[in-house]
Amino acid sequence: MSLLLRRFAPASHVRWGALTVAGSRHMSKVGEGTPDLMTGELTALPDINVSRLEITRNPKPATPPPSSSLVFGHTFTDHMLTIPWDLLSGWGAPRIQPYGPLALEPSSTVLHYAQTLFEGMKAYRQENGKVTLFRPDMNMKRMNNSARRIALPNFDGDALLELIKELVRIDKHWIPKEPGHSLYIRPTLIGTQKAIGVGPPNEALLFVICSPVGPYYPKGFKPVSLYGTTEYIRAAPGGTGAYKLGVNYAPGVMPQKDAAARGYGQNLWLHGPEHYLTEVGTMNLFVVFKKDNGAFELVTPPLDGMILPGVTRNSVISLARDHAAGKSRLANLPENLVVSERAVTMKEVQEASKSGRLVELFGAGTAVVISPVDRIGYLGEDVHIPTGEDGMGPVSRPLWTELVGRQTGTIPSDWSVTVTN
Ligand SMILES: *Cc1c(COP(=O)(O)O)cnc(C)c1O
Repeated sequence: MSLLLRRFAPASHVRWGALTVAGSRHMSKVGEGTPDLMTGELTALPDINVSRLEITRNPKPATPPPSSSLVFGHTFTDHMLTIPWDLLSGWGAPRIQPYGPLALEPSSTVLHYAQTLFEGMKAYRQENGKVTLFRPDMNMKRMNNSARRIALPNFDGDALLELIKELVRIDKHWIPKEPGHSLYIRPTLIGTQKAIGVGPPNEALLFVICSPVGPYYPKGFKPVSLYGTTEYIRAAPGGTGAYKLGVNYAPGVMPQKDAAARGYGQNLWLHGPEHYLTEVGTMNLFVVFKKDNGAFELVTPPLDGMILPGVTRNSVISLARDHAAGKSRLANLPENLVVSERAVTMKEVQEASKSGRLVELFGAGTAVVISPVDRIGYLGEDVHIPTGEDGMGPVSRPLWTELVGRQTGTIPSDWSVTVTN
């Protein structure tokens, strides 16, 4: 097969179209397929198939380090999951194997054209040993959306989720038991075509690695300061900001260093001459205003193509909306709450800060859950943002409590998916 691929690469689409017909003989499950140029029919190549899983146990399993020594994303478990894909044969047999280096040729397209995307999700272990995931179906959908955006292959998200569960079961002793700890799961998909040339790759590799992590704020919430960045942008209309693509992150590192040199913790990414607020570092953003009628308005920018559709963002909105509608009230959350997905400008935030109508501003994402903000450096001035005694505000605190309860499974909900009892 690889010989064939090499002989035809870089091939025209006509050739690929004809070749995929041969691949259809191996069909085991109907995937998305490739249109046959002669007949227009979708040829079905094998999708990810859980029953083909091969497991090679790590002969030298490591001893998980003490939880207190964990640095986010620095420690990995004994095993990883890999699933190869190629244009002719579709998704190959999934393998759970010892964690270790990948073999990639220097010509691999991922190394030249950033054909890479990722997901971030967590597995939680309860005191009784039960292991759960939080809304993992959303990660699978988002991963397929990211893949589509950069012409990497799509896959059966349910099948990948089953394989991730198996990986987590095998390495479950790596999930720290201490409160606030979890196993960070990093599914990744890369283009591995062995040829220099920009186009849809004829080979790809999906892999999943796992990292035990502690709470982002081990000593309680520490509000972060933001640098309202007017020199650089993270995303633009019609761009790729709404997808978890590797290409969105490297260009943010230098501005992040720049913000740090000015004494701020993170970039606040702004858009357009109006300086619309979009995201905070690699988190979604929420602002709370006090309205004239005494109501609290929880605002987050709309999914306009520049905002990453965060699972945490979606969960915060959903909890707040159910509360506001009286469907499911949360303790201590202001009763008079309005939830808006709408654009917010720096001018609005600045004026609300000055007039005392700014209640709080926070970031939201899987790694941190909720991250309160205490000031924004903007055009040479600091905009001050109120923070509560423990760093959290009156809206974020009750939402955080409910969210973390549902994530860890102490508050039962259908967002929690069991991996093992
Ligand atoms: C991952 C990410 C988020 C948060 O998404 P979650 O699903 O809540 O973790 C927000 N913004 C960016 C840019 C991200 O990469």
